[in-house]
Amino acid sequence: MIANYHTHTHRCNHAVGREEEYVQEALKAGLQILGWADHTPYIFPDGYYSHFRMRPAQLPGYIQTIQELRSKYPIEMPIGLETEYYPKHFPRLIEFLRDFPIDYLILGQHFIGNEYDAPYSGLVTDDRETVRQYCRQSMEAMNTGLFTYFAHPDLIHYNGDRKFYMDALRPVCAEAKSCGIPLEINLLGIREGRHYPNRSFWEVAAEADCDVILGCDAHSPQGLNDPKAEKEGLALAKEFGLTVLEKADLRSIHR
Ligand SMILES: [Zn+2]
Ligand SMILES: [Zn+2]
Repeated sequence: MIANYHTHTHRCNHAVGREEEYVQEALKAGLQILGWADHTPYIFPDGYYSHFRMRPAQLPGYIQTIQELRSKYPIEMPIGLETEYYPKHFPRLIEFLRDFPIDYLILGQHFIGNEYDAPYSGLVTDDRETVRQYCRQSMEAMNTGLFTYFAHPDLIHYNGDRKFYMDALRPVCAEAKSCGIPLEINLLGIREGRHYPNRSFWEVAAEADCDVILGCDAHSPQGLNDPKAEKEGLALAKEFGLTVLEKADLRSIHR
């Protein structure tokens, strides 16, 4: 890997290490591009807030820290955010983010609905409507034109009929293809033996000839330097005949 666009910081409350340690590990791993994509702040009404993301007031510090590291280390460091598409609150979020020098967003659809009104996407389910909703919402997200790539698109955890799952995800892959959005093989999922990467998903992605990118989803400096997971990710892509991009074309959120 020469580029990774999926890196977290302690601000999300479930990542460890100082930013500088991430940079040093990235250099050790031979990365030329270290893209930061911590869990976005979100703006919810009524005092609701989720614990796994930074607060809006932490965004300036996040940006400043990366900018300072940029001037210190010989590695490209675009500033991104991993962002859910929540239909009720996404427009307001984008307005908020446009005041900051954010270089890109990756889509990470951790919840369906608006988070507080629907389940975690990775919760095991046999409910077909939940799968359909995840698919509809992901497609809507890609259609905003604001996302650079789709992180762990196979996060939805359906334990029912494989044919139903593949039929449901087929339009999602077709949409990614037509929007020119690469799909991420998530190395954290590989490292931790999670339910993703889901082979049925990648079979569908291959049918649609989708572009693929590897993402470390690093929640610790070591997460940026895991040759074993990287090798497995590449092997998965190769097995299905998927093309792995070395770099992503960053999509601006600014007008
Ligand atoms: Zn996370
Ligand atoms: Zn992530």
